[in-house]
Amino acid sequence: MTSKEEEKSWKEISIAAVCWKPSTDFLTGDWKTFKPVRDLGKCIRCLLCVMFCPDGAIHWIAEKGDIEFDYNYCKGCGICANECPTKAIEMKIE
Ligand code: SF4
Ligand code: SF4
Repeated sequence: MTSKEEEKSWKEISIAAVCWKPSTDFLTGDWKTFKPVRDLGKCIRCLLCVMFCPDGAIHWIAEKGDIEFDYNYCKGCGICANECPTKAIEMKIE
C-alpha cells in the first residue's frame, strides 16, 4: 500500500500496451451471445449507433442511405442499443 505522497504522477509511469491495429483486422464476432436487431420502422438513421460502436461493426452504406450491421465483427456488447435514441435496436439471443 502506498501513501498519497508516494504515488507516481502520470508522467513517471511507463507507457503500457498500445493498440496499434483496429479489431476490424480480425474476425471477432463469432463468440457473441446477443446480437443487435434493428426495427426499421423506428430507426431515424441518426448514425449515433455507428459513432458509438466500439468495434466499427455498424457501417453507413451511402448507396442505400442506410446502416448495416457487420456481424462478423459485432461482439454483442449492446452499446448501440443503449445509445439509440428511438430504441430501434433490440439485443436478441444468437
Ligand atoms: S442509433 Fe438507432 S435510430 Fe440512430 S441510426 Fe442507429 S438504429 Fe437508427
Ligand atoms: S452490439 Fe456492440 S459491437 Fe455489436 S454493433 Fe452494437 S455496439 Fe457494435
